[in-house]
Amino acid sequence: MRELEEKIVAEGRVYPGRVLKVGSFLNHQIDVPFLTMLGEEFYRIFKDEKVTKILTVETSGIAVAYPVAQLFNVPLLFGKKNKSNNLSDDCYSSRVISYTHGNVYDVIVEKQFLTDRDCVLLIDDFLANGCAIEGLIDLCRQAGAKVVGAGIVIEKAFQDGGRSLREKGIRVESLARIIDMDPEKGITFAD
Ligand code: 5GP
Repeated sequence: MRELEEKIVAEGRVYPGRVLKVGSFLNHQIDVPFLTMLGEEFYRIFKDEKVTKILTVETSGIAVAYPVAQLFNVPLLFGKKNKSNNLSDDCYSSRVISYTHGNVYDVIVEKQFLTDRDCVLLIDDFLANGCAIEGLIDLCRQAGAKVVGAGIVIEKAFQDGGRSLREKGIRVESLARIIDMDPEKGITFAD
């Protein structure tokens, strides 16, 4: 998506360790009209699927998922990041390893909000190694819910998550795909 690539180049900062910061519109300050436009693009891509629920992970995923849920007119459910071990029987949970943040957490949703009647569209801000999306897929598997695909704002295509998910048959649609980035040389997008 050209507007997104232009915004990433104009406002993004590449940090050592190949981490991209886009706090001006996505991860800290939220550019609401811009994220609404991204939501419209996800809706256009997935509108033929019978989506009953949008599932994301707190925190940054929520702002992206909100306009998508509004357009599909379905609930937005977000996995909560639980750092303690006190998991209740009322919840599904899946362990996520975050390489970017260097920590491990359980992503949890209450069973009452995710069922075998759901057709779920996953939405997230970044796709890197794929652990966050794999965790959401695992929650859907536990609930017996169908996953119709994953909508990602920025895919770091030089990491393995996208390839691994697509090989497993998951429909992954990314609005910007970065094939390389470097603090000095800048950002290169896939064609
Ligand atoms: P994965 O689980 O696919 O390795 O990483 C995805 C999650 O890590 C996203 O939900 C996002 O929060 C975070 N993440 C991964 N790479 C980056 C990055 O370059 N910049 C930012 N801001 N977040 C990232």
